Amino acid sequence: MTPWFDPSRVFIGGHWQAPATGETLPAIDPSTGQEIARIARGTAADIDAAVRAAQGALAGEWGALPAYARGRMLARLGQLVLDHTEALTAMEAADVGKPLTQARADVIALARYCEFYAGAADKLMGETIPFQNGFTVYTLREPHGVTGHIVPWNYPMQIIGRSVGAALAAGNACVLKPAEEACLTALAFADLARQAGLPAGALNVVPGLGLEAGAALTAHPGIGHISFTGSVATGRKVQAAAAENVVPVTLELGGKSPQLVFADADLDAALPYLVTAGIQNAGQTCSASSRILVQRSLYGALCERMAAAYRGLTVGPASADLRMGPLISARQKDIVERYLAMADPAHILARGQLAADLPPGGHYIAPTLIAGPSPDHPLAQEEIFGPVQIILPFEDEDDAIRIANGTPYGLVASVWSRDGGRQMRLAKRLRAGQVFLNNYGAAGGVELPFGGTGLSGHGREKGFEALYAMTTLKTVAALHG
Ligand code: NAD
Repeated sequence: MTPWFDPSRVFIGGHWQAPATGETLPAIDPSTGQEIARIARGTAADIDAAVRAAQGALAGEWGALPAYARGRMLARLGQLVLDHTEALTAMEAADVGKPLTQARADVIALARYCEFYAGAADKLMGETIPFQNGFTVYTLREPHGVTGHIVPWNYPMQIIGRSVGAALAAGNACVLKPAEEACLTALAFADLARQAGLPAGALNVVPGLGLEAGAALTAHPGIGHISFTGSVATGRKVQAAAAENVVPVTLELGGKSPQLVFADADLDAALPYLVTAGIQNAGQTCSASSRILVQRSLYGALCERMAAAYRGLTVGPASADLRMGPLISARQKDIVERYLAMADPAHILARGQLAADLPPGGHYIAPTLIAGPSPDHPLAQEEIFGPVQIILPFEDEDDAIRIANGTPYGLVASVWSRDGGRQMRLAKRLRAGQVFLNNYGAAGGVELPFGGTGLSGHGREKGFEALYAMTTLKTVAALHG
């Protein structure tokens, strides 16, 4: 896997250039622990140059484009993403450790975001408002200006697609700071944007450390909106920085998302979703389902079926394309192992297995299914961000809601039941930004508004809601008699 561009450079104002300090950071393959590239170590000076380039784009060619032309460029960009499917798949698999099938799905998702926002760019409309006689009142949706995008390492392409795609469609110019652990596909996206003819400065990509490039971006007074996906701790800092400049911020901070399985559920249909939602991307998914809540009468049977499924899981390098690859880093593996050490060994129902002959430097961990121990235990309360699922019994709907809503998070939730009335009741009562009835994840749903409540964050991405978030509303009141 050799990128077709030079990742030791930053992409600013339509050009590749050395970072201001000239320094680089290693890109590590989580499957092997080996360095696969050197990436630019952007700092405050690069961020400042990127913000200025974005301001220049808004004042120049990009800012003058009609909405349909922005859409046309995004459509070209989406097609270029598809044309590079295999190269991007190999890059993401090597950089993030994703099994090839999952990496390929992320490429397709990125292309879908480009397509969706390409089509939406010229359909973002204001309203006319009935008002007093003699007035005509209407609203205009206008871009914020320069938008900052801070992206984590778990789904770089999907998160870039949903946040940068919407921002560009709405007419903003973007400065993107990918995660230091995984930024190759963000840089590839920048080069594809260049190839698609995006005017210089409309999209700028500056890799670097969170405390250097990330903090500089959130503190920059030229930024009109910040989108952040990542940890609660960093999310708080991002919101504080946004408060200093009094700019809006979208925070997507993960969760502890439950699936509620009632005794009348179609278990055969549910089982693949119950397991996959916990182990996909090695559990490093903001909307991972890390809690399985089961009605008491079904608890023993479901524990057995899930345990059997876990025993059939094998973890291997991304290139082996198994259901699960490595964790992103030794640090993340350490976090997950510390959580596993909290579990009473008697409560561990099953573990998957590690493939034979794993590369020695990789960050592998066997997926683990744990019974209980109780809804308020840290294992059932905190985001582990690894392949660990907790399975807990409940008595009835009220008990299920009490447990499901009993964490500080509220990102997504699902209900498995054949009872339509129950589905509707629980969809209303669950504290979550998305609720799935007899499914989980709705296949990623580019079109579906996504975001959380509580510690899961605020604001919505995806779908048309993201376009509203990426604009500011102006009301025009004309008095004409
Ligand atoms: P993080 O929140 O620190 O990093 C996410 C992004 O924020 C990266 O691009 C990073 O460079 C940037 N960043 C870091 N410090 C910053 C700062 N002060 N100002 C601006 N940007 C900054 O997350 P992490 O350290 O990579 O992972 C730690 C934990 O976060 C994980 O164990 C997991 O629980 C959680 N996490 C959640 C998600 C999610 O999708 N919700 C994604 C990644 C990590």
